Amino acid sequence: MSQNFKRDTICVQGGWKPKKGEPRVLPIYQSTTFKYDTSEQMGRLFDLEDEGYFYTRLQNPTNDAVAAKIAELEGGVAAMLTSSGQAANFYAAFNICEAGSHIVSASTIYGGTFNLFGVTMKKLGIDVTFVDQDAPAEEIAKAFRPNTRMLFAETISNPSVQVLDIEKFAKLAHEHGVPLVVDNTFATPINCRPFEFGADIVVHSTTKYMDGHATSVGGCIVDSGNFDWMAHKDKFPGLTTPDPSYHGIIYAEKFGKGAYITKATVQIMRDLGSIQSPQNAFLLNLGLETLHLRMQRHCENALKVAKYLEANDMVAWVEYPGLESSKHYALAQKYMPNGTCGVISFGLKGGRDISIKFMDNLKLAAIVTHVADARTSVLHPASHTHRQLTDEQLIEAGVRPDLIRFSVGIEDADDIIADIEQALAAVK
Ligand SMILES: *Cc1c(COP(=O)(O)O)cnc(C)c1O
Repeated sequence: MSQNFKRDTICVQGGWKPKKGEPRVLPIYQSTTFKYDTSEQMGRLFDLEDEGYFYTRLQNPTNDAVAAKIAELEGGVAAMLTSSGQAANFYAAFNICEAGSHIVSASTIYGGTFNLFGVTMKKLGIDVTFVDQDAPAEEIAKAFRPNTRMLFAETISNPSVQVLDIEKFAKLAHEHGVPLVVDNTFATPINCRPFEFGADIVVHSTTKYMDGHATSVGGCIVDSGNFDWMAHKDKFPGLTTPDPSYHGIIYAEKFGKGAYITKATVQIMRDLGSIQSPQNAFLLNLGLETLHLRMQRHCENALKVAKYLEANDMVAWVEYPGLESSKHYALAQKYMPNGTCGVISFGLKGGRDISIKFMDNLKLAAIVTHVADARTSVLHPASHTHRQLTDEQLIEAGVRPDLIRFSVGIEDADDIIADIEQALAAVK
């Protein structure tokens, strides 16, 4: 938006800007293709000489309106929707990495991203070093190599809910001439805008709070436009040298601050094709319209539930960055003073077995492979999302074997607590 609207206003009215007589609500452009009058007009699109839609694998007006809203919310220059959060993370990396490149990543990240970086990217010849994000900067700096191309971490890690020191990470990345890529799925731009603290690229699994209703898998990549690719020309040849698949255009020269997202769209998305469907983008937009209201309620409820758990003597430990007892409380206050997220991790005395029995006794909270939904959800990462990891990798990823990931919804907090109470009583 040209005006400086607040985040709540952007949630409701950002992105789609109807002109006279156009639909007030974002339409679903359910069309693979777009019509032109002359062959010449279409040809110019393929040469990136004109802007315009021609095929939905590259761009679609519904998707673009939603991407623009997310870019506005994050304070970025441009964004691209993807079919999933996994696709967003992969594209964000693959847009600047190639065989022979190296990534430094926090080890406490989503299980799927841990596999993507640690197993699948390796098959493409892209190496990764996982680091402890809470370690001193001098320690983390040792992981960088001459071929390192990005630093990666999550604002609030899934599922261990550790808060990232974004400024420490941005400084480390920039000292080594690479961008900081931050997965902002759990905090959402309502609670934290990583660009304000030096991050260069933000990625999202929009499947979570942004959609908010568990209807649509999706992802998004947002560019701050701040990283100077040309200043590190040799590291990022994909952006700073001619692209033979577009008659030799140089993205960083031709598109300036839009270079990264333009390349991700017209080259990576063109060739790999994990586009979000316009139908899902429409549903995502409905979620975004209430994101600010839901995040506030998720955080209020989660703090009540976390305090209840902390005071219960059947509970061995609780991690919620909104609790004063959390070792990440100070970072949470600095980066997310209005709230963190609705996810709590905790363990019960008696360990893994009793944690599982407790989950089986919950009635309102459902066991689902999902998180950050309006409905309260629960999962045991060591048995579910992180099942493929060895015990050693589990610890590295911040997943204790007894960890219960409790995603507090926007129901009445008293009902959520009563559900926990009866499930605890059942396993006593
Ligand atoms: C869920 C999640 C992903 C993966 O997103 P999908 O939409 O499931 O592909 C990536 N990062 C984080 C932090 C997540 O929670």
